[in-house]
Amino acid sequence: MRRNRLAKIVATLGPSSSTPAQLRTLFETGVDVFRLNLSHGTHDEHRARHAALRALEEDFGRPTCILVDLQGPKIRVGRFASESAELKPGAAFRLDLEDGPGDATRVQLPHPEVMSALVPGTDLLLDDGRLRLTVDRVGEGFAETTVVTGGTLKDRKGVNLPGVVLPVSPLTDKDRRDLAFALDLGIDWVALSFVQRPEDVAEARRLIAGRAAVMVKLEKPAAIEHLDELVELADALMVARGDLGVEMSPEDVPSVQKRIIGAARLKGKPVVVATQMLESMISAPAPTRAEASDVATAVYDGADGLMLSAETASGSYPVESVAMMDRIIARVERDPLYRRILDTQRPEPEATAADAITAAAQQVAHTLSVAAIATYTSSGSTTLRAARERPDVPILCLTSRRETARRLALVWGTHCIETEDVRSFSEMVDKACRIAFEAGIAKAGERLVVTAGVPFGTPGATNVLRIAWVNG
Ligand code: PEP
Repeated sequence: MRRNRLAKIVATLGPSSSTPAQLRTLFETGVDVFRLNLSHGTHDEHRARHAALRALEEDFGRPTCILVDLQGPKIRVGRFASESAELKPGAAFRLDLEDGPGDATRVQLPHPEVMSALVPGTDLLLDDGRLRLTVDRVGEGFAETTVVTGGTLKDRKGVNLPGVVLPVSPLTDKDRRDLAFALDLGIDWVALSFVQRPEDVAEARRLIAGRAAVMVKLEKPAAIEHLDELVELADALMVARGDLGVEMSPEDVPSVQKRIIGAARLKGKPVVVATQMLESMISAPAPTRAEASDVATAVYDGADGLMLSAETASGSYPVESVAMMDRIIARVERDPLYRRILDTQRPEPEATAADAITAAAQQVAHTLSVAAIATYTSSGSTTLRAARERPDVPILCLTSRRETARRLALVWGTHCIETEDVRSFSEMVDKACRIAFEAGIAKAGERLVVTAGVPFGTPGATNVLRIAWVNG
């Protein structure tokens, strides 16, 4: 189960990826982080996937990392009688609060606060901007619109109102219920949707209370205005290009993506690039050249993770999509240009012992062509700092905390192993070498750089660097 690449793959689960057998194949093919998207599916379905993933963890002896993505105050249409409706340009289409199934003439928009913000002339973008409606007339609990850009509108698709400021809380009642459910299950990351301000993260953190790490999805222009504060507050970031590309012009998305990755890399926070990465593989066994190039660009940019959405959740080729993403990432990472880009973008170490040690570890690893950097860590922070250096070898993360091993599976370059704390220098060296050898990370006769904190087992105490030979 050792990956042949450093950037990670996040895969969204859904009807195409539900059974234990499907999840096993995805794990074997290369998925590092499994995303439960609470915008879709029932708690029972998510509970079953969670159980199957943790069973895989037992079977393979490798941590499974589970990311729960809260819907947030995302506006969505209701359901249709036959799962979708064909909206024709120029046709009348009504949005209302009634919960009966929709058809080609109407659908529920179950958001009273949105309904009351609509006025004649408001534009509504549906399904990531693929369809457009313009409001003609509003009344108590309904809006009559004209279809400007038509197409197939499926159940529960998203609605964006560019330029309309909605007075909505960042965590809806549904999010609070979903969060309590997910934390009870025991998950590793919570992704917060539609964050606009630093206060939104603070509120979620109070509720999560350390039981999961917090990923902030950047999908609102307002969030980009607060980028540095949000990077500071988050444990990880997601470039959520679906909504971002609707809320702002598509031509702005590539430079915003690079800005977010740059800001996250500077602070050593993991960053995931999401949405439409291999979109055409929802229905075709191979991607377009442009999609392959988009995946490659995110890798060259230095992203920690690349995310698949419908490709794995509801597409016809979930395994092929993961295999393709795996191959593109590995190919980029073999390109000498990739290494040159990472080396020129390496941030300066901060003035801490952990940064001094991890920066030195990167340099020693390069100078001596060692097989890997082994980091002993409790909270995961030393491994994160090592990953910030983007060394040219894998990072073996050795931790006594299962939640750290799981969470750090998201992070660039890491191979996480749960193991008991060491108590002496000789144990520190012997254990790192033995585990690296057993995991296929180092061969006999190769060297490792090992970092740890003395006194052993003290969180935040990284202060030791050791070069060690691996024996067979
Ligand atoms: C996105 O908008 O790109 C995204 C990942 O969010 P959602 O949960 O709406 O897919």
